[in-house]
Amino acid sequence: MDDREKKILELIDKNRDRILAFAGDIQEHPEPGFEERRTAEKTAEFLRSLGYEVQTGLAGTGVRGDFTAGNGRLKGEEQREPSGNSGIRVTVIGEMDAIGCKNHPLADPHNGTAHACGHHAQMAAMAGAAIAFSDREVQEALGGSISLFAVPAEEYVDAEKRRRLKQEGIEFAAGKSELIRRGAFDDTDIMMTTHVHMVPVEEDFYLGNPACNGFTAERVTVRGKAAHAAIEPWNGVNAVSIVTSAIQMMGLMRETFREEDHVRLHNVIRKGGEVLNSVPEEAVVETKVRAVSLEAIQAGREKIDRAYDAAAYAFGGTIERENLQGYMPVRYREADEVLVEAARELGVSYRTVDVHDFNNASTDVGDLTHLYPVVNFTFGGFSGKLHGADFSITDPETAYILPAKLLALTAYKLLKDGGKEGERIVQEFRPIFDRESYTAYIREHN
Ligand SMILES: [Zn+2]
Repeated sequence: MDDREKKILELIDKNRDRILAFAGDIQEHPEPGFEERRTAEKTAEFLRSLGYEVQTGLAGTGVRGDFTAGNGRLKGEEQREPSGNSGIRVTVIGEMDAIGCKNHPLADPHNGTAHACGHHAQMAAMAGAAIAFSDREVQEALGGSISLFAVPAEEYVDAEKRRRLKQEGIEFAAGKSELIRRGAFDDTDIMMTTHVHMVPVEEDFYLGNPACNGFTAERVTVRGKAAHAAIEPWNGVNAVSIVTSAIQMMGLMRETFREEDHVRLHNVIRKGGEVLNSVPEEAVVETKVRAVSLEAIQAGREKIDRAYDAAAYAFGGTIERENLQGYMPVRYREADEVLVEAARELGVSYRTVDVHDFNNASTDVGDLTHLYPVVNFTFGGFSGKLHGADFSITDPETAYILPAKLLALTAYKLLKDGGKEGERIVQEFRPIFDRESYTAYIREHN
């Protein structure tokens, strides 16, 4: 460890109480996606107090902090510094939203959400890194720049809310996706993300990004025809029968899913008729299909569409579809050397991702991995189930302080020595999309 690295750790230790207080405050005031107003305000306040130049209201509630003018690395500054600095720009992400979980002991009684996915711990890690990078000596050793970015809405946003958001100008219903669309990440070269462990891991840290499923979803309104259920059912078209048949077909189609595609298919019936005395006229179903690749997601989507169309045809009903944008799969990324080195120096227990590791769940970090190299780790320090009422932080050191140190140390290592590690990562990365082609893809498939 060089002197600056030691200083980063000292700064975080010295501000331990402040980081814990920040984490506790966010945890005690959970807010749903795109509504993280208080969380955003507290984050902006925190970053401003450290001297960052802060932008707010990004994709609704997003907050971003950059080094302030005067130290020569203001964002967007044209002149790059001498001495061979790479000018690589690292964005450190913290997710602000809580998850609907009204039985959680720390749930907000009004909005029904709780930090049962540990996003407040990510925010603590980001806050700790912000403290470290507010130090002038640390800043001066960087061959590039760092942004701290608190992002809205990682958790899935339901169909009703999507409609409302569209009217407010949020076109893409996931925080990172909307931020990409709006160009808020245009001046980023490398992303850094964290999360509490999403797959079972014994060690305190899990380094790298395991591949994860992506998904797409749709809301299907099935229209039949009402008729008296006893006097003349033959004159009706039963919307519930159409739904039942479509779901049965999906079940039979499961044998066409390849193991390596990790397809997961699930339905929720939102409405299934009105009165028991009539042939149900209308039914509403939401269907989600997850898979390992964009191609496999589309293939699964076509199958479920055929199931709905065929069932409607068989009974003489009609289908109306509303596409609900999902998340892209996470592209596998092995643990970067700088991350492993930082974990080793911290003396924490860790394991690195294996190419065979797989997470069947989904996150909008997947979208980021299609545009940027995403340096990611997950951490422990909690007990209970993710999104469950029993989720709780049991070890604040492992959940808040050590992630802050690992995040800050790794970001520093990306940018020290003129930013040569960061530069190498950017050179080696092969993006699938840029902003324009990404936006076009999402629009085309939704
Ligand atoms: Zn989460």
